[in-house]
Amino acid sequence: MAASPALSAFRLPPLPTIREIIKLFKLRALKQLSQNFLLDLRLTDKIVRKAGNLTNAYVYEVGPGPGGITRSILNANVAELLVVEKDSRFIPGLQMLSDAAPGKLRIVHGDVLTYKIERAFPQSLKKKWEDDPPNIHIIGNLPFSVSTPLIIKWLENVSCRDGPFAYGRTQMTLTFQKEVAERLTANTGGKQRSRLSVMAQYLCNVQHILTIPGRAFVPKPEVDVGVVHFTPLTQPRIDQPFKLVEKVVQNVFQFRRKYCHRGLGMLFPEVQRLENTGKLLELADVDPTLRPCQLSVSHFKSLCDVYRKMCDADPHLFAYNFRDELQRNKRSKQKEGNKESFTL
Ligand code: SAM
Repeated sequence: MAASPALSAFRLPPLPTIREIIKLFKLRALKQLSQNFLLDLRLTDKIVRKAGNLTNAYVYEVGPGPGGITRSILNANVAELLVVEKDSRFIPGLQMLSDAAPGKLRIVHGDVLTYKIERAFPQSLKKKWEDDPPNIHIIGNLPFSVSTPLIIKWLENVSCRDGPFAYGRTQMTLTFQKEVAERLTANTGGKQRSRLSVMAQYLCNVQHILTIPGRAFVPKPEVDVGVVHFTPLTQPRIDQPFKLVEKVVQNVFQFRRKYCHRGLGMLFPEVQRLENTGKLLELADVDPTLRPCQLSVSHFKSLCDVYRKMCDADPHLFAYNFRDELQRNKRSKQKEGNKESFTL
């Protein structure tokens, strides 16, 4: 009788514990690289379970370090696991895991910020954007200083359907500082509602799936950690270029405690500010006295759609940056000041 898939599932053979690996290869966490390791395999199993069903999946793990999450992924019966690690000290320990899981673990010594994952997996895994997500998952516990810029880069990739999303709607499960996880998933009106909430939620279904107390890491970070799951949406909630949405959202949230018209005004040169802000809000049918955190994704959709039309009508508008105007005004005031003191 053929073995059932459950019975034939792959399990790693007995190995030294992660703590022993750390000792064996002298993998002291480097504070300047914000390295905090997960040593409890029950916890890494839980993170991996929360990522979804990984049977026969192709998984891209970012920043495997001493390999706790890596082991749990390998035990989830994946087809292949590709890990990208920047710190060469971890490569021999990962090599030991690769020997224990023949043909399953591919190790790259590199930087996730520049690694081209779109060429790494078989092209046959590609799915149409409207189809179910491909059987490719991204999983990682990276330093917070890397995970936040990386998610912004990947959200732009979602919008352009390139990078990891050249395969289709690739799912991601990533850790963040708990407050960042709360911002990513905050609802309209929520205390943590921010630029990140809108940027993530207009492109993805975003779920805060787990909170891990700081004490679960070695060494213990100052903060707790949130695990967030992202599934790109078949239809983005705002159908405009990423950079345009980013500009509108950034301008609104730069004055997060003021009425939204204050930040929106900064989209326009000073001479036309009042008139154009009024026009934008009126055409988008948005109440100027709403605070940034009270704006829903559909409010942002209307604002972006109208702003896009205004940019199409005035080719210089999109390039306008109020900070440049401030600098110019400051310089010309300084010049005036110099002239006056010279005349005196
Ligand atoms: N994932 C491991 C765990 O949970 O125990 C290690 C976590 S530690 C917070 C982050 C890991 O990401 C470290 O191994 C670090 O060297 C690696 N890392 C940091 N920046 C990276 C980058 N730009 N590219 C690849 N790896 C990176």
